[in-house]
Amino acid sequence: MRIVLLGAPGSGKGTQAKKLMADKNIPQVSTGDMLREAVAEGTRFGLKAKSIMEAGNLVPDEVVLGIISERLDQPDAQDGFILDGFPRTTQQALDLEELLDQMGTPLNSAVLMDVDFDILMKRLTGRRTCSLTGKLLNVYFSSQEELDECTDAGGELIQREDDNEETIGNRLDVYRENTEPLIEFYRKRDKLVTINAEGSIDEVYERLVEAL
Ligand code: AMP
Repeated sequence: MRIVLLGAPGSGKGTQAKKLMADKNIPQVSTGDMLREAVAEGTRFGLKAKSIMEAGNLVPDEVVLGIISERLDQPDAQDGFILDGFPRTTQQALDLEELLDQMGTPLNSAVLMDVDFDILMKRLTGRRTCSLTGKLLNVYFSSQEELDECTDAGGELIQREDDNEETIGNRLDVYRENTEPLIEFYRKRDKLVTINAEGSIDEVYERLVEAL
């Protein structure tokens, strides 16, 4: 299975990709996660990416393409992958198409995760990661037990640097301007599947699996 998860920041791409990865044993390939790793390593490239990401802007297409083509070349991606946060521009979608054509492994589908604007804001501003387990949580939507499980074990609930209101506003604008055209891109290629991505994680996951 080779799929792209499309959707605004906060639509639940990462959460659903992780569930699908655990369930179907195919890797989640998240350009955001890979870029954050580069930033954490503090390389010169990481430093450049850091300021772009903190402002909520997009890292140049050729940079993410390089990261993606290296990643899709790895042995664990040969039987499929879930792309999360890539492509984000028409150029990236064209590059991906070319790359997969060369590999002889075209995409199966692009799943659009559809979520109302108000819910996106709550998901983004409330999002936290447990410093111990890496588990994604949300101060508005996770149960108190889930939140306590992390903190009682000595973990901290960490907020992403770009999950503040100012940056979130820009990320949503960038999404509308650069990424939303990909809905038409994949519809024209008959690859688009839209799911209602509101509701609990399990409810959305059920719809996702059904759609695939
Ligand atoms: P994400 O974790 O997918 O929300 O990505 C976090 C940030 O990483 C984005 O706001 C961008 O600055 C950068 N980023 C991630 N994926 C891409 C991409 N495909 N193209 C350009 N920038 C990206």
